[in-house]
Amino acid sequence: MDSLTAAFYDVMYQYRLPFSPEGVAANLTAWRENKTPLVELLRRHPNWNEQELAVVFDFAESREIDHNSVDENKFEMIMLAHDAGLDDIKLSDFQAALDAATADYATIPDASRLETIRTHGRIKCAEGQKASRIINRLCVKFGLDQYQIERIQGEHGDDPTTVMVKPYNAIFARLADSLDPVRIPKTGILSVHPCDFLEMSSQKNSWQSCHRLNGGGYRAGCQSYMGDAVSMIFFTVDDDVKADFYHAPRLTRQIFAYKDGLLLQSRLYPNNDDETRKLYRGLVQNAIAQCLGVPNLWNVKSKPDESRAFLETAEHSLHYPDYEYSYGLVSLLNGTPTDRKLTIGSQSLCTCCGQPHNDSSSLKCGTCESVIVCKECGSTVSRDSAHYMDDAFFCRDCVAQCELCGSWIQGAEVHQAISRSGRIVRLCEHCHTSATGTCDLCSSREICQIINAGRFCPHTEYAVATAA
Ligand SMILES: [Zn+2]
Ligand SMILES: [Zn+2]
Ligand SMILES: [Zn+2]
Ligand SMILES: [Zn+2]
Ligand SMILES: [Zn+2]
Repeated sequence: MDSLTAAFYDVMYQYRLPFSPEGVAANLTAWRENKTPLVELLRRHPNWNEQELAVVFDFAESREIDHNSVDENKFEMIMLAHDAGLDDIKLSDFQAALDAATADYATIPDASRLETIRTHGRIKCAEGQKASRIINRLCVKFGLDQYQIERIQGEHGDDPTTVMVKPYNAIFARLADSLDPVRIPKTGILSVHPCDFLEMSSQKNSWQSCHRLNGGGYRAGCQSYMGDAVSMIFFTVDDDVKADFYHAPRLTRQIFAYKDGLLLQSRLYPNNDDETRKLYRGLVQNAIAQCLGVPNLWNVKSKPDESRAFLETAEHSLHYPDYEYSYGLVSLLNGTPTDRKLTIGSQSLCTCCGQPHNDSSSLKCGTCESVIVCKECGSTVSRDSAHYMDDAFFCRDCVAQCELCGSWIQGAEVHQAISRSGRIVRLCEHCHTSATGTCDLCSSREICQIINAGRFCPHTEYAVATAA
């Protein structure tokens, strides 16, 4: 079995969905036939990963300045000024200057704040200077950095000692930190891997969309996107995930589609945030231009109606077209004729019989039998007769129920024993060990086994099947 087929089976097992070798082959054949030109384009990227069928980016997202933590840290600083014994006039000047330096909740305060800072703080400050630098100068001017308090040190049992500490440094560091946006490293994946389409709304995510395989109203859309010539999945995972990306929870995900100079960016999940969209769009635009070997120049159609004019949905496609509801944004590569259209989606193919189907809330048609492939022997059997255990389906020949405790067992977990009546029984490891071990009440069986005679003392029901 090739690795794509194995990976496809694995997703079907994870979601307990019916499938046959023919159905999976039909889906993968459609993917291969239609997606190959796009795969070949992306393969030119220096960050292409053949195993993952994706371009992998390391990048950082910035988190905005949190107003509450700025307010809290500023409050602490004013308390310190109070404790340091500033008189009322100085205290109100200090507070006015500090308020002005932080009023924009920005790393660099607006130029309009500087006059207030200069007048009340009696310090120099220039346009473009960081707020943290201005605040430090202000605090030094008012002597807060020199203010000391007594602190008693020593563990229980020690003789307590009194030391002098300056609380300013720690308070200033917290305030300065809160005025700097945080950079969060992430891994971004621009993928055409069939399983990334199947898992575009993975059950491991903290969010879900209508394309989720477990219950999504448009889950067949995963197949429609998978089988077309243009769609790609862009998703982000934690920075420490470096392989098997489709197993990882997706922090964000969105569909991009590209062909002949037209790039669609669809809705971003879970939050369709403009700043983040812009960041991801930039990454994908740059990657496509790099693969094409052309300058990274794009004309972005920022009005939804303008973008929609470039898009159409393939007939009988079953995906939910977010881009038709103001979420789509089209970029035109420099020089692209404006009469082109990008056709998104394809017919979804039943995972059991491989024929086109039209049920958006299923991966299979409504007429053929629901079947599964046994993970152990590979035979295709009815889903109703199959047993699901250890994250996979098995046929009844490949699993057994322990005759003693009733638990389901398969493969090396199945142990055979002989009953008193000479019948072969299947037992789990635990029951087999305890049922065929030495009797606690007499030694007859042990002795008989040594001389290879009958295996049963009056107390036992089962004997090791292979000892005969
Ligand atoms: Zn079918
Ligand atoms: Zn089997
Ligand atoms: Zn058992
Ligand atoms: Zn006994
Ligand atoms: Zn005996």
